[in-house]
Amino acid sequence: MVNEILQTAQHHFEESARRLNLKNNIYDRILWPKERIERNINPILPDGSVVHCKTFIVRHSDTLGPAKGGIRMTSSVSMDEVTGLAMEMTWKTALIGIPFGGGKAGICCDPQLLSPDGQEIVIRSFTRGMLRHIGPEIYIPAPDMGTNESDMGHIRDCIAYSSGIAITRGCYVTGKPLILGGIPGRREATGKGVVYTLLGACEKLGMDIKGLRVALQGFGNVGSVAAQELARQGAKIIAVADISAGLVNESGINVEALLEHTCQNKGQVEGFPDAQVMEGADIFQVDCDVLIPAAGGSQITHTNVNKIKARIIAEGANAPTTPQADEVLNDKNIFVIPDILCNAGGVFVSYLEYTQETQREQMTLSMVEQRLMQRMQERFNEVYNYAKDRTLTMRRAAMDLAVSRVVQGVRSRGFRP
Ligand code: NAD
Repeated sequence: MVNEILQTAQHHFEESARRLNLKNNIYDRILWPKERIERNINPILPDGSVVHCKTFIVRHSDTLGPAKGGIRMTSSVSMDEVTGLAMEMTWKTALIGIPFGGGKAGICCDPQLLSPDGQEIVIRSFTRGMLRHIGPEIYIPAPDMGTNESDMGHIRDCIAYSSGIAITRGCYVTGKPLILGGIPGRREATGKGVVYTLLGACEKLGMDIKGLRVALQGFGNVGSVAAQELARQGAKIIAVADISAGLVNESGINVEALLEHTCQNKGQVEGFPDAQVMEGADIFQVDCDVLIPAAGGSQITHTNVNKIKARIIAEGANAPTTPQADEVLNDKNIFVIPDILCNAGGVFVSYLEYTQETQREQMTLSMVEQRLMQRMQERFNEVYNYAKDRTLTMRRAAMDLAVSRVVQGVRSRGFRP
């Protein structure tokens, strides 16, 4: 059975290819991933047990530059899921306007079952195994679900160590700790970018961010930062769900208190005292103005889409909506900020980190934030205007703009080897 995330990515491309009238030779070149690597690793954990993990890297496209995309570490990640996510990265980097292609990596292992030492061992083992496939001109990883800043630090160390030098020559990984050449604001970039695109949508729809009632699925890197920024701007977070539980509080959840709670509770919201408990899946039927899926893929499906009451959906997660559910959202006139636009802030700031390292310069937090906000606003307006001029949905407009850029790249490079 084809993975749903891959199916969704291929569906959106096929639709866009039809609208853009792509010829077969270009269509095939763009549809199929450039390279897919699978490798088994068997590291020994600190307790002496051996963990067996399948690991993957997919470079979907390097037409516009080296493949860029995060490492997903979950117990269910598969080659097909990574392929779908890599394809999404191709559109995202093209849409946000950075000279990268699309890639993604996966480590099939549940990080919740690993100690911090265990996670470091798995990450190092993955890096050593995939050494030939990671590099500033090949594939540059970053954090995604289940991986974080410390993991990126270990990847950088592992690569430098393997080459016998103190630093890496060029940027091999982004989302690193600041002290190792990371960039200020990278961890927050995706969540903040989500909020900047949401501000754009509110402006177009005549909605005020102050008092906006928001429901969030996922309270990890993306979800928690988006919640913090929204609360700072005066919005009310009335519901949050993660893998452990769902919480609802009509008067607004205290985001800082929830963050403190998750820090003491293995990153999970379960047991937070100042909210009522609900089933996590009920997040999709909460009466709210804005729904932010910021967890896994294929969460908004034909089974829950009709229960959604939000006016805006801001897709913090990658591929959170199935194509079938997307049609229903369009019929219901719900304004969807598509993932390839909404969560592109992370990869944009990754690009700033890449150029910072390549040019050996240092950017300040205010420089990064200013460039992030400007780029997200600019691209939101570009997609909005394109959609309005052609009476397309935001997703179709974003896809057509992104695919056209990749096509332009393919044509400019030419077809001969
Ligand atoms: P994370 O691992 O930090 O957090 C994931 C969150 O989702 C956790 O709160 C977890 O409990 C929750 N979750 C997982 N499965 C769930 C389920 N079945 N039901 C409810 N909640 C569930 O991951 P992240 O980095 O915040 O990434 C979240 C999403 O955003 C992913 O789809 C990722 O691909 C996408 N994304 C992340 C970045 C980034 O910079 N981290 C960039 C672009 C897109």
